[in-house]
Amino acid sequence: MFSDELEKISWDDTTRKILSKTDADVRRALNREHCDVEDFMALISPAAAPYLETMAKLSRKYTQERFGNTISMFVPLYLTNSCTNGCVYCGFHASNPMKRTILTEEEMVNEYKAIKKLAPFENLLLVTGENPAKAGVPYLARALDLAKPYFSNLKIEVMPLSTEEYEELTHHGMNGVICFQETYNRANYKIYHPRGMKSNFEWRVNGFDRMGQAGVHSIGMGVLIGLEDWRTDVTMMAYHLRYLQKHYWKTKYSVNFPRMRPSENGGFQPNVVMSDRELAQLTFAMRIFDHDVDISYSTRESAEFRDHMATLGVTTMSAESKTEPGGYYSYPQTLEQFHVSDERTAMEVWKALQRLGREPVWKDWDASFDVPNKK
Ligand code: SF4
Repeated sequence: MFSDELEKISWDDTTRKILSKTDADVRRALNREHCDVEDFMALISPAAAPYLETMAKLSRKYTQERFGNTISMFVPLYLTNSCTNGCVYCGFHASNPMKRTILTEEEMVNEYKAIKKLAPFENLLLVTGENPAKAGVPYLARALDLAKPYFSNLKIEVMPLSTEEYEELTHHGMNGVICFQETYNRANYKIYHPRGMKSNFEWRVNGFDRMGQAGVHSIGMGVLIGLEDWRTDVTMMAYHLRYLQKHYWKTKYSVNFPRMRPSENGGFQPNVVMSDRELAQLTFAMRIFDHDVDISYSTRESAEFRDHMATLGVTTMSAESKTEPGGYYSYPQTLEQFHVSDERTAMEVWKALQRLGREPVWKDWDASFDVPNKK
């Protein structure tokens, strides 16, 4: 399990290593066809900042070689904001005395139909807070069953599950799982996740192994930028990615670097702020480190920045996202998990990408592929 590997990697030593990377380290990394995590550290280090243009060109080249001009489009649907956890940075935390919504089956179908009217989306991401009693595996299985007639590619972003539960959901058409570790800083993890299932660091970080063991086709990972030193956190994620690729090599991987945005609980302010330039550097570094990984940008990022990065390394994008349950049809006015920044419609995003010479793709999966990876 990855938690055993992580034990061997010191957070503080990693931070020191990144900060001590030199100009020569960066140049060496830029000249290597296959980078290791040491090279990745050099590319995200302050020493690489003057090489942003070179990194952008290299990132564009590798992306073009592997993905052509395509950008895979997806849309998230929040099924519930009911949650038993207490993440200090999220407005859905259990102590917030807000109204909770759990979509009924009829409401789910109304949402699916409403989404299909926005654009020809085929990639749907079902999102929930973490409430296994009220929105557990049977509920998710039903949501997947009902979504299947409308979408060819179904992913979930829900609480970490057991291997058997992931396996069970693959039989209901689920072919991808996204989970954010939020931070790999084990010492501070509990400060941000003081209660509920999510307070168990090991259970969360080893969830990715369980997805791999269950034969999930696509695994998405990410850290929440704003909690801990981002350079160290994404380096831990790079170690994690390499570990997963080695153990579950049939699986496709995606990464995401969500920057914290104000939630409506009014309290938590990010501990670290990442500039656009730094996010660009990280994106290029990830592409140079891994030519095949999907890099996903959500509507947390501005329209202008997303358009720019769509030509330089990003391969997957959400559009017209609502971050409240039932936001497309049933409850358009309820509390959002976070404010989106890119408020364009899906078709406006599509047109903008086309103008940039990209090929936005709505469907890149077929239901006939829905057989779990054999281990
Ligand atoms: S981040 Fe997710 S798990 Fe944490 S409180 Fe919000 S909805 Fe619940």
